[in-house]
Amino acid sequence: KPVCLIVLGMAGSGKTTFVQQLTSRLHAKNKPPYVINLDPACKEVPYPVNIDIRDTVNYKEVMKQYSLGPNGGIVTSLNLFATKFDQLITLVAKKSADTDIAIFDTPGQIEVFTWSASGTIITETLAALFPTVVVYVIDTVRSVSPVTFMSNMLYACSILYKLRLPFIIVMNKIDVVKHDFALEWMKDFDVFEKAVNGDESYHANLSRSLSMALDEFYQDITTVGFSAVTGEGFEAFLKAVDAAVVEYETDYRPEHDRLQ
Ligand code: GDP
Ligand code: MG
Repeated sequence: KPVCLIVLGMAGSGKTTFVQQLTSRLHAKNKPPYVINLDPACKEVPYPVNIDIRDTVNYKEVMKQYSLGPNGGIVTSLNLFATKFDQLITLVAKKSADTDIAIFDTPGQIEVFTWSASGTIITETLAALFPTVVVYVIDTVRSVSPVTFMSNMLYACSILYKLRLPFIIVMNKIDVVKHDFALEWMKDFDVFEKAVNGDESYHANLSRSLSMALDEFYQDITTVGFSAVTGEGFEAFLKAVDAAVVEYETDYRPEHDRLQ
């Protein structure tokens, strides 16, 4: 069975570029992945795509037809696509003999996928049938700001507890800024506290209290530094995926079967 990677992250974090890099590296290894684009609003898909939501729904037409704004148009397009998701499942299952990895690129605005019924349906359907891993892409360059870092981690944390699937944090763009500082912040609360220090705003105070709450989340989470531009971190990422599949089989799967 192919492992399904659902690539999530804030707009501009580098999801699409990450999928492009991953796809090209896997091709070079003679392990072509099965790639699915779930972003109806992207202008062009820069990787060889097997299934493209844009072939099924025209987002501009959906906006017009239902008198929606951009976000409503994306959500409705995703809903329309979700009604045909069983067909996609059949295609992914058929590929299982010659593909190890299926990669799902998601809409730029993360909440469109994480807080919509169709995003949830797509994720849960995949997770019920295949080993499924959430790949949360973070813009490391923007995360040098402690408050931005904290918001991003809180979002990651809320998704983890909502979906309860194996989870990999990809700290992207390390060609610009190394992610050591972030690892340090996750490991040692005092270091984070120092970074926030001097900023007495409401946000900074909030960050300080939340950081303690996040401590448990940090201890368990897998983090990989990556550059979607250079491909640095690729092998480490594949290792993290292997470990996540084991976690799916040992933790998620039995729990799921018990609830059935
Ligand atoms: P998405 O909205 O999450 O799909 O983000 P995109 O993949 O479209 O990338 C947003 C911007 O970040 C683009 O200008 C990319 O070229 C840039 N970008 C993505 N990954 C990297 C990276 O690893 N390093 C650098 N320097 N830029 C990146
Ligand atoms: Mg994108």
